[in-house]
Parts: sequence; C-alpha cells; structure tokens
Amino acid sequence: MFEGITKSLTEAFKKFRGGKLTAENVRDGLREVRRAFIEADVNYDVVTDFIGRVEAKAVGQEVLARVNPSDQIIKIVHDELVATMGPVDPKIPQRADRPVVLMLCGLQGAGKTTTAAKLALTLQSRGRKPLLAAADLQRPGAVEQLRTLGEQIGVPVYSEATNPVDVCRNAVAEAKRTLCDAVILDTAGRLQIDDDLMAELQRIDKLVKPDECYLVVDAMIGQEAANVAKAFNDALELNACILTKLDGDARGGAAMSIKGVTGVPVKFIGVGEKVDKLEDFVPERMAGRIMG
Ligand code: GDP
Repeated sequence: MFEGITKSLTEAFKKFRGGKLTAENVRDGLREVRRAFIEADVNYDVVTDFIGRVEAKAVGQEVLARVNPSDQIIKIVHDELVATMGPVDPKIPQRADRPVVLMLCGLQGAGKTTTAAKLALTLQSRGRKPLLAAADLQRPGAVEQLRTLGEQIGVPVYSEATNPVDVCRNAVAEAKRTLCDAVILDTAGRLQIDDDLMAELQRIDKLVKPDECYLVVDAMIGQEAANVAKAFNDALELNACILTKLDGDARGGAAMSIKGVTGVPVKFIGVGEKVDKLEDFVPERMAGRIMG
C-alpha cells in the first residue's frame, strides 16, 4: 500500500540528517515532504495546512540531545497525519427500540454492494443480526449480486421490485418482524453525481430516516474522493466514509484528503474484493502505512 509516497517521504526525511532543526533547514526539508504529498494526490489545501502545522511544531520544538532531527521530524509528521485523518469512532450504533438503519450511498462502481455485504459480515462477527436491503434498482444485477453475497455470509436480503423507498421501509419492517438489529440499505449509484441520484437518496433519507449514512468511495480516484464526499455531504450529512480498493494502487490522496476537505471521517477501508476484506480505519495504522 502507498509505495510511492512512502519512498518519497523516506528520501525527504534524509534531508534532516545531522545538525539540528533550524527554521531554514526545516523549511527546506519540508519542501520535499510537501512534494511527496502532492505527488500522492492529496488535496492542495490539505497539504498546505498540514505542512504549516508540521513546520510550526518543528521550529518551536527544543532539540533533544538524544534524538536526531530526522527522527524528530518523522514523529511530528506521523502525529500530524494522525490528527489530519482522525479521530474516528469505530462503533456501529445500536438501538434498543428498533433495528438501527445504516444507509450506504455512493457512485456506481465504488463498491457499495460489496461493502454492504462486508459490513453485514462485520456486524455478524460482532454478535449482531443484520439484514441487507436491496434498494439499488438502477444497476442491472445489483439485487442478484446482493442476494448471492447474502447467501454466502448467511445474512437475509430483503428485495421487492417496487421503488427504493418502499424497499427500505419494508426492509426495516421485515427486520423488526424477524428480530434483526441492523438494516443495511444498499442504495443506487450513478456514474456521476446528478440531481436524480441526490433526489432519490434525499427521499430515502427523509422517509426512512436512517440512523447513519456512510458514503462508499473508491480510493483509486485520489483526491477526487474528497470532492465526491463533499457533494454527498452537502446533500445528506454523512456520518462517515468507507474507502474501498485500498489494496489497489491508490496513492494515499483519498485517505488524507477526505477528512481535511469535508470534516467527515473515514470509518472503514476495503482492502480486497472478498467479503472479509473490510478493516476499521485506524488513523495511527494508516499513518504507519503511509510512512512505511
Ligand atoms: P457498486 O456499483 O458501488 O455497488 O459496486 P460493486 O460492489 O459492484 O463493486 C464494483 C467492483 O469493485 C467489483 O468488481 C468489486 O469486486 C470491486 N471492489 C469493491 N470493493 C473492493 C475493494 O476493497 N478492493 C478491490 N480490489 N475491489 C473491490
């Protein structure tokens, strides 16, 4: 994961070897660090903010006799990366009065249907009893795909050939009847953000009132993921993002940009096509992966 940025950062940190941290050598060295993040497709403003904070900390920091300057910078960069990407609440909410409703939204191909099944499996492994709602009536094959995944993990899938709002509403009723404690709504996507897509999602949001709304977004699109997240957040008030395909050759830009641009945290990451390839997003672990 993230070989490119890890390599460029390792090179950049070499600039801080020897001597001590001064305003001048910090600025020089951080130019390389900045370039590494820009090359990794991190949003420009996020990088500028980030470098500013690292610089302020590094220049103000006492030079510790035992610690060499590059280790000092590495620690500051690491801590600021964690601060940029976090904090994240790893919990999936639960309710005593009725099943909790989790709505997944996103563009077509982002990995929504796959992630719905992954999330159901995660809930199941935490002792919960989820139900999947096949509310993507746009993409041919989406309902069948969810059915197959549901069978594979032993999670019931609710579907009906009506309209997305009724699918979601009736799925919640079915979950109550069968004593499920969570409903995951797999909604439709489009190839790009458009008014029809947002209107449909807003209708579900208004009439079904999900407890949480998660955007599923493809990490391969880099910092564009932050723009997608912003558009969805403006329309729906997202609780979190789920970043998929981090096992591919994503450069890190999405992971770092989303929170900085939108304030919405990444909660889970997809690291493979299989249903068990969903991980909690842990900013410390992600910072470690970026820095190598
Ligand atoms: P949807 O249109 O958003 O419902 O997208 P799908 O769930 O059908 O996923 C689109 C493609 O992305 C499928 O081929 C999935 O197997 C693949 N995919 C989803 N998540 C991941 C992931 O985390 N890693 C990889 N490598 N592929 C993924």
